[in-house]
This record gives sequence, structure tokens and C-alpha cells, in this order.
Amino acid sequence: MYGLRVAVVGGGLGGLAAALALRQAGHDPTVYEQAEVFRPVGAGISLWPNGVKVLSSLGLGREVAALGGRMDWMGYADRSGVNLTEFSLDPLYEAVGQRAWPLARADLQDLLVKAVGSERIHLGRRCLAVESGADAACVHLDTGEQVEADLVIGADGTHSTVRSWVLDEALDHEYVGYVNYNTITPSDEEIVRLGLWRTWVGNGQRASVMPIGRDRLYAFFDVPQPPAEAAEADPDPKRTLLSRFAGWAPPVDRLIRSLDPARINRVAIRDLPTASRWYRGRVVLLGDAVHAMAPDLGQGGCQALEDGLVLTHYLTTTDRSVSDALSRYQAERLPRTADITRRARNRAQMTHGQDPLALQSWYQSLKRETGEIVVAGLIQSVASGPCR
Ligand SMILES: Cc1cc2nc3c(=O)[nH]c(=O)nc-3n(C[C@H](O)[C@H](O)[C@H](O)COP(=O)(O)OP(=O)(O)OC[C@H]3O[C@@H](n4cnc5c(N)ncnc54)[C@H](O)[C@@H]3O)c2cc1C
Repeated sequence: MYGLRVAVVGGGLGGLAAALALRQAGHDPTVYEQAEVFRPVGAGISLWPNGVKVLSSLGLGREVAALGGRMDWMGYADRSGVNLTEFSLDPLYEAVGQRAWPLARADLQDLLVKAVGSERIHLGRRCLAVESGADAACVHLDTGEQVEADLVIGADGTHSTVRSWVLDEALDHEYVGYVNYNTITPSDEEIVRLGLWRTWVGNGQRASVMPIGRDRLYAFFDVPQPPAEAAEADPDPKRTLLSRFAGWAPPVDRLIRSLDPARINRVAIRDLPTASRWYRGRVVLLGDAVHAMAPDLGQGGCQALEDGLVLTHYLTTTDRSVSDALSRYQAERLPRTADITRRARNRAQMTHGQDPLALQSWYQSLKRETGEIVVAGLIQSVASGPCR
């Protein structure tokens, strides 16, 4: 099918990439985003090779590489700074034919907005409701506009409005046991050498720095907290980090002291149970709207990118019906994302100490890790996806 009028609700990573893929395939997408101006939530994002491959297939490979940080090595140290393991990521890149590019979310969003074209993006439009008949669907916006389309895509994130129409069941978020603090800060070789993604672990906590473009670091910290504490705002995140990481290795202390408190984001990590269906009539979901997962495998955004590409592929390569394309899309994407969501949750709980014995055994296993197990898992994430 060609020339479908598609209303995309949500201009995050998933919605923008889907709009770009649809436009390139000869469809007619328009994005409706509730924000008045684009302000990405969160500081950085690690785009693993499967996510980069999607963007490369949309013609953005060179730009992503220019914005990304060169990440050649991965390493873990304990809280006092003693090295547990360090290994090259080259075997991954060689096996899958593509580097990972961690980058600032703002840079990625700018890139996608330019690629989609601002004339196709309507800001300050919040979707209040959607509905669908057999031949068309409609989006009701808070401006009073009603947008008719051949297809509506709900790319409106983890608190999706569109999802409540598509599903009969309500999906409740589940807190996975820790709070993440994240920010961007200038590179500093006294914190970490160039090209190394370094993580310090102890007590179920982690402090981590990943290289991103323009000589900056994406810094993030995981702190297990009881649900009630996690749900409250933190008036002074820098003080929390100084206190929770007191006595850790000197680079961690130096890192936290260097942070601008006004630029520290805080998010209690929650995921969603797997939805049993992804579309209803001519309304379909993608990204966090249908598979919000813990960030412990760095795959949520990459999966949103894959969704848009696969959805576009089926819309373009069937001449039967929209519903035929949507059912093929769901059949391909649901099992993959359910599996990754489950693995991300297991990893979140294990590495943040829900079971203290499992945590200690993981710390021990890091001392024996040569990179083979980690790299094999990363290769599998790419090899089982749509862009190999
Ligand atoms: C701490 C943390 C770290 C992460 N790290 C990584 C990582 O390293 N790698 C990775 O791949 N993923 C990572 N993720 C996951 C990734 O951020 C998400 O999976 C990704 O942002 C999902 O994109 P999306 O477009 O589906 O949703 P979103 O990015 O949430 O975008 C949804 C958009 O819809 C808009 N919207 C919402 N409701 C409406 C409405 N009613 N009407 C109109 N617009 C609406 C919102 O304003 C927003 O712009 C991380 C997540 C967290 C929390």
C-alpha cells in the first residue's frame, strides 16, 4: 500500500523515526506532539548496533556517527575502584558490522526533527482520544481539531492515551526497585579514559559513565529505594548522590562533585506487563506505549526504532489491507519485545540486589568475565532483530 495518511501521536524517538520511515516509503505521516517545544526527557541514550542500523537504513548513519561517542571498551570496577573486568567491544562490532553510538538525546531528537521536516510536526497538540471505523480512524486533539487518517499510530510513550483505547485491559506500571539519576557532563580523563564505558558497582548501586559526542560523558547512577521513597520528588539529587556514593572510588566522587545539580534528571524505573494486542481497527501502538521496559539492557529506544521500521515494512509490502499489515507487525514485534522486557526486568532486579545472593554471585562473575558472555548477549540482540 502507498500514500496512507498516517497520524502519529507523540513526537519522541519512536514516533519521529516511524514518521521518517513512512515518509520515505511513500506514505503521508503527520506527527501530533503535546509539548509546545521539544525538550527531551533524560540526558543520553546508548544506541546499540540494532538501533543504529535502523537509523542508517533511514539514511542517518553518518549523522549518528558524528553525534555519537566512540565507545571501544566496556569495564566494571568495584566501589573502591578495583578493576573487575575490562574488554574490547570490537568483537561485537566485527560480528554485527556496526558500532554502537551513545549520544545526547537532544542531539538525536534534533536530527530526527530535521529529517522528518518541521512542516509534518504539529507541536502543542495533545491527543485526548482516538476512535476507528473499518475504513478510517480519527484523533481528537485538545485544540478541538479532529484529524481523520487511514491509520493512527500511538507513539505516546509509557503513559499512553492511545493505549487505553486499543486495549481492553488496563496495564499497570510496576516499579522495578531502583531510581536512576542521569545527566551529561564534560569528559575528564581523571574520571575515565577516552573510549571506555566504565561502571562502578557495589551494594546494588551503580555509577556509570559512557562517552557521547563533543567530548562529553553520559553519567548515570542507580540507587535502590523503597517504593514510597522512589515515588517522592528529590529536592536535592546531588546531595543524595554524594551521600549514597560516599566513600566510593575517587573518580566517582570527582564525577558527582562536577555535576550541575540543575541538570540532574531523576526517574523511578517502572516497566509495563506485556500487552496481548497492539492494534484495534486502524489504531496501532509502538515504542514505550506498548512495551515500556527497564533500561538495563539499553534497548527501549532501540526497540521503538525497530517497531517503526517493521510497521512501515508491512504497510508497504502488503496489498491486502491495513489490518493484514498490522497483524503481521504484531506477530513479529510482540514476542521479541516481550522477551527483551522480561530479560531487562530480570537484570534490573538481579543487579540491584533484590536477591542478595544473586547479586554477590554476579559481582563474583564479573571478575571472571572476559567479555565473551556480554558480547555474545549483545550479538544475539542484533542477530534476532529486523536489521542484521
Ligand atoms: C533512565 C532511562 C535510560 C534509558 N536508556 C536507554 C538506552 O540507553 N538505550 C535505549 O535504547 N533506550 C533507553 N531507554 C528507553 C528509551 O528512553 C525509551 O524506550 C524511548 O524513549 C521510547 O520512545 P517513545 O518514542 O516510544 O516514547 P517517548 O520517548 O516517551 O515519547 C513519547 C512522546 O509522546 C508525547 N505524548 C505523550 N502523550 C501524548 C498525547 N496524549 N498527545 C500527544 N503527544 C503525547 C510525549 O510528550 C513524548 O514526546 C531509557 C529509559 C530510561 C527511563
